[in-house]
Amino acid sequence: MPTQPEELEQEPLVREIPPKSADLPEWYQAVCYKAELVSLAPVRGCVVLRPYGYGLWERLSAELDVRFKATGHENAYFPLLIPESLLAREQEHVEGFVPEVAWVTQGGGEVLTERLAIRPTSEVTIMTMFAKWVQSYRDLPLLINQWANVVRWEKRTRPFLRTLEFLWQEGHTAHASREEAAEEVLRMLDVYKDVAENVAAIPVYAGEKSDSERFPGALHTFSIEALMPDGRALQAGTSHEFGQNFSRAYGIEFAGEDQTLQHAWTTSWGMSWRMIGATIMVHGDDRGLRIPPRLAPIEAVIVPIARGESESGGVRAACERLAAILREDGRRIRVDARDQTPGWKFNEWEMRGVPVRIEIGPRDLTAGVVTLVRRDRAFREEGQKTTVPIDEVPSRLEALLEEIQGHLFAQAADFLSGHTISTGDREEFYRLLRERAGMVDVPWCGRPECEAHVKAETSAATRNLRAGPRGERCVACGEAAKVQAYFAQAY
Ligand SMILES: [Zn+2]
Repeated sequence: MPTQPEELEQEPLVREIPPKSADLPEWYQAVCYKAELVSLAPVRGCVVLRPYGYGLWERLSAELDVRFKATGHENAYFPLLIPESLLAREQEHVEGFVPEVAWVTQGGGEVLTERLAIRPTSEVTIMTMFAKWVQSYRDLPLLINQWANVVRWEKRTRPFLRTLEFLWQEGHTAHASREEAAEEVLRMLDVYKDVAENVAAIPVYAGEKSDSERFPGALHTFSIEALMPDGRALQAGTSHEFGQNFSRAYGIEFAGEDQTLQHAWTTSWGMSWRMIGATIMVHGDDRGLRIPPRLAPIEAVIVPIARGESESGGVRAACERLAAILREDGRRIRVDARDQTPGWKFNEWEMRGVPVRIEIGPRDLTAGVVTLVRRDRAFREEGQKTTVPIDEVPSRLEALLEEIQGHLFAQAADFLSGHTISTGDREEFYRLLRERAGMVDVPWCGRPECEAHVKAETSAATRNLRAGPRGERCVACGEAAKVQAYFAQAY
């Protein structure tokens, strides 16, 4: 990831956000700080989530959590530290993760006899516990989710997209049959696609990862992949089928209905705050963030527009009354009564991407109306502002929020379809990948050597795969194609 080392030491004092179209990485950093989503932490490579940034995470978590529970999962919590001997038990898994593990070697002033890993993910702890909890087929399926922080020792970092410590959820399940585990993996992939598309308003491609992009220790890894405005893909959620690999390594055995001793079939699946990074990049514009209403910590901000003491009292009271009515409907509302000019507040809330601004002035009060201003439309674009009777605000706002949600998704879907390119020509294939033209959709042979060659030539790799037409040739190498693949450079 192209980040400058100095960003790790010093948080920029952002006065103006550079245009998104001119410099996406600069725009991204600036908007993260200026919209008060994050601050740089005193420790290298970590960020502090400020209340507005945490509000986004709370919304994302709430939307995921309700879906996890609706599909039968329960939340639990496991320790941050993992004994080294435990981590070493699943060979492929440990080899995949050890390069980025942070270790605790001392505690209470003494050198520990066994190093403790800070979890990069929790398979090994949770599988160890599953082995204790599962004895009979009656104990299955075991459907657990954990909300947690993890640490991966990254060299280069960027808010939400890559940080040493990050927030995520990890689901872990054990099943009595392979079929049931396979169904679970796809069910949770669907949940991720639903949240990406219907909450974050980001269209994604769901499919299976190639052999070289698979999660360490998994038989099959599936992902959802979104496309960023610079033509790079972003993996926004993964779901893994482990077969019996982990249950053999960690001893998850159960007596089946036929009384034979069997190994359970396990899965895991995760989505992190990267999804917030994707939301920022996909929807933002030159004026700042545009948060999709369903993900927005504040759906509407009410700004009183009044001059002098005599006007402001009545207007302020009207704003608070309206806010109370909307909050009773469950709306997330902020009244901005700070001592700043209305113009200053308009800029501030536009930059922070609040979907709707509600303006109330003394003349509006007399006329019984308010002005609704939508953030998704361009400045002074037709339909950006509407005047509505004050008692119609609850229903008009609800409809407007839905419209904004749909509009943001439609814009992102247009971008994705406009930047998904099929080609049968090898030269063009390599050129499109080097130019980061988007998701390049081709028949592919599925061979790791072929993918490695493409990567060496273009820095792009497969994002995910799906069943393809038979009898085609791999566009990258000319061998027989086995699948249809999206290739792209990635975050
Ligand atoms: Zn090939």
